[in-house]
Amino acid sequence: MPESQQFSIRTFGCQMNVHDTEKLSNLLLHAGYHEADDEADADFIVINTCSVREKAENKLYSDLGRLRQWKAGKPGRVIGVGGCVAQQEGQAILKRFDYVDLVFGTHNLRAVPAMLDAAIAGERSARTDETASLERFDLPERHGSYQGASAGHAFVTVMEGCDMFCSFCVVPRTRGREISRPAKGILEEVRGLVDRGTSEITLLGQTVNAYGRHDVRRGTDAAQGTMPFARLLGELDAIPGLERIRYTSPHPLFFDADLIAAHGDLEHLCPHVHMPVQSGSDRVLERMRRRYTRGDYLAIVEGLKARRPDLVLTTDLIVGFPGETDAEFRETLSLVAASGFVDSYSFKYSPRPHTKALEFAGEEVSADEASARLTELQAQQRQQTLDHHFSRVGTLARIRVEGATGRGPEQVRGRDLHHRIVNVCAEGGVELGSYLDVDVVEATPHSLIGELAAPRLIELSQGSASR
Ligand code: SF4
Repeated sequence: MPESQQFSIRTFGCQMNVHDTEKLSNLLLHAGYHEADDEADADFIVINTCSVREKAENKLYSDLGRLRQWKAGKPGRVIGVGGCVAQQEGQAILKRFDYVDLVFGTHNLRAVPAMLDAAIAGERSARTDETASLERFDLPERHGSYQGASAGHAFVTVMEGCDMFCSFCVVPRTRGREISRPAKGILEEVRGLVDRGTSEITLLGQTVNAYGRHDVRRGTDAAQGTMPFARLLGELDAIPGLERIRYTSPHPLFFDADLIAAHGDLEHLCPHVHMPVQSGSDRVLERMRRRYTRGDYLAIVEGLKARRPDLVLTTDLIVGFPGETDAEFRETLSLVAASGFVDSYSFKYSPRPHTKALEFAGEEVSADEASARLTELQAQQRQQTLDHHFSRVGTLARIRVEGATGRGPEQVRGRDLHHRIVNVCAEGGVELGSYLDVDVVEATPHSLIGELAAPRLIELSQGSASR
């Protein structure tokens, strides 16, 4: 490998992909490559792709079109494609784009440094083989020169893959079967992160609260080293120095009584749950193969709020699923109101290859109608978000500082316990990852505005920050 080979990674899609980019950066740093400060300086550009909607997939193809010129600008430049589209299309990407050098699937991150060495030597390759091996969780610790801003926060993978096969979703094909990581490795990783300054973690998995379920059901959890998700949260809650625990994304089907109770019992489990619902209509939910009803979902909401009255709920929603009637769409609107979602990611249904919902061909909701429903839903959500933000004015929030807002030299942005963004002017500057107590003085559609409250700054190093 030439002395100063530099890489840059473009990331699309969910937090899983964001975390895969972190893992890949680490692998490349450990292999002796360097992270480019600016993409223009890179010798190797990777696009970490998302295929959850057609629009995201098309973005890859337009990006690749532009990268052809970049590659032609200097000999030895290398282009790689990873993530869900890579897993789905594999060799076809190499065939269609003869200037792409390597394609790697979601189970093949560890192979990338060797594939890159081969590409520099002129060999093009694609690896999309799936593995059920736990080896994929054996990754090196964060490299000393990793540049990704962590600000005291880290993602921690607890399970990967999905066995749910919702009828609109391509993920089970791109991420493979569900596999849970032994708890010992998770706890060791988190203890190590805390020792190096992390105070907040987000546990990641496609259906994160399904963690360990196959082992638990078979009675092999002790042998496989997993445990019920609520118990894992309990073990993490006891780690000294870990202030905040979050998880994403749970599936409503796996919200058992213990997990609901954990939200009342565990000191460091944050009062925010992002629980995708997708639709408020039982008929649509059934056709989506979501395996719960509107009533089941609302019962979980009620259980969570009974345990933790200040809990903030956010969700994912799809409008215009094939066959969705106007009345069924209105059931979604009423569920959004009944659940009191503080925020949501909402999208128009997008047909994906190899999914069951393609069988509903001929029942499509027209593009205009789907757009109108999305507009109406998002207007309702905006109002609910704003109402929540106004309800917070006059309260105290503790934020973990994530970075500068870019609006004035001393304005910083942080997240409160409920995962809301709070902007505050911190004269004299503050450390990223520090905790600030803030009086909320103003509400905007996207964030809260605060003023520093006393005590002004609680240094993590003093170990006095509470959640
Ligand atoms: S639970 Fe459904 S929507 Fe979520 S990743 Fe699995 S198949 Fe996709």
